[in-house]
Amino acid sequence: MQDDLETGKKVLRTLNENGHQAYFVGGFVRDFLLGGRSSDIDITTSATPDEVTRLFPGTKATGVKYGTVTVFLDQHSFEVTTFRTDGESKDARHPDEVGFTRSLEIDLERRDFTVNALAMDADGTIRDLFGGRADLENKILRAIGDPERRFREDALRILRAFRFVAKLDFTIEPSTFAGIRAHRDLLEGVSGERVLTELKYIVRSPYAAKAYAAMAASGVLDYLSPISAGVRFLAVRGPFKLSFEEFAALCFMLGDKKIPPHWRFSNREREAIRKIMDLADVTEADPFDVLLVYVNGLDLCLAANAVNRAIDPARDQEDAIRAMHAALPIHKTCELAFKGDDILASTPLRDARVIGGIIDDLIYQVITGRLQNEYTQLREHTLSLIRRMGERHDGRN
Ligand code: ATP
Ligand code: MG
Repeated sequence: MQDDLETGKKVLRTLNENGHQAYFVGGFVRDFLLGGRSSDIDITTSATPDEVTRLFPGTKATGVKYGTVTVFLDQHSFEVTTFRTDGESKDARHPDEVGFTRSLEIDLERRDFTVNALAMDADGTIRDLFGGRADLENKILRAIGDPERRFREDALRILRAFRFVAKLDFTIEPSTFAGIRAHRDLLEGVSGERVLTELKYIVRSPYAAKAYAAMAASGVLDYLSPISAGVRFLAVRGPFKLSFEEFAALCFMLGDKKIPPHWRFSNREREAIRKIMDLADVTEADPFDVLLVYVNGLDLCLAANAVNRAIDPARDQEDAIRAMHAALPIHKTCELAFKGDDILASTPLRDARVIGGIIDDLIYQVITGRLQNEYTQLREHTLSLIRRMGERHDGRN
């Protein structure tokens, strides 16, 4: 586990030995001091991207414009970024220009929150310019510098604040919170893609409910209308453990029932959310039955149930769904003891639509327990169906 830390130290030392300053920074240091581990390791250095590239055999220019080079070493990868100063931003999202600097202090100053601006060198010594360690101990999220200016520079920081509340169980410090309130309208300029990314972080984090409450209290939901009703609801009625798709389905059901087009869900996500909404809608008042459980499968049924249950705990049907699923004699068409090929072999039928209809009926008979999933019974049933179809047909002529 410490492997990546040790390898990271090698990266720092290589940079140091070649005359450059280099530190671990950001989430990695924060999570390290909290006793946890980050998935990604950020390194900040006085070396330029070119200098970094020359020093390591395995590198990739991942964000040249922003000074980032990914260094690959001993099966690990590190985002190595040159000390940067971010210029003014006109669109409240992207700095108009970034400049490189040889000063750690200037690089740390551009970062969003004090707990994200701690730097650690190869010996484990921490550089703490903004009181980040104290804030870490007190679980306080505090913007660096003037909060209003910082959120004006980059409105994504507003959503990042809630991300860290959700992840770390932090409380947003009052003037930082006031800055969020003051500039929450700038969220309108944040792309749907980025909103979605941050929302996913929040929903999947352990203290999501705390973030929902902070979001509701800060007024940001005025500018996140698709999830506004849902988050307000969850802030009061939560916490519920919901997947992101369940969260989205719940929000949209409590909202205007639409999936916002500009949020750039993947097709798979969009379809999953749509299915959960549809099934939750169908089963809101009516109980799940074997047919619904068979057709939709266990996972989708549980997801729809999770949404209904969050809206009203009295609607919980999880035990019944699981029992019905466990008792299903078949889970897919190919498990029928008498199926398409058998119909072709033992009857004159060739019309695919008619055969499909018969198979649907066989499935219905089997999963509702009217017939056993057994070759002879299903064959008899099929032949008698065909006889009746023939009689009806003859009767018409
Ligand atoms: P996580 O553990 O969720 O990845 P993180 O703090 O590592 O959290 P990243 O998005 O990986 O977050 O960013 C790495 C670091 O870059 C942050 O800790 C922060 O110092 C800086 N940073 C990232 N985004 C911004 C931003 N929008 N404004 C200012 N600084 C930022
Ligand atoms: Mg990170």
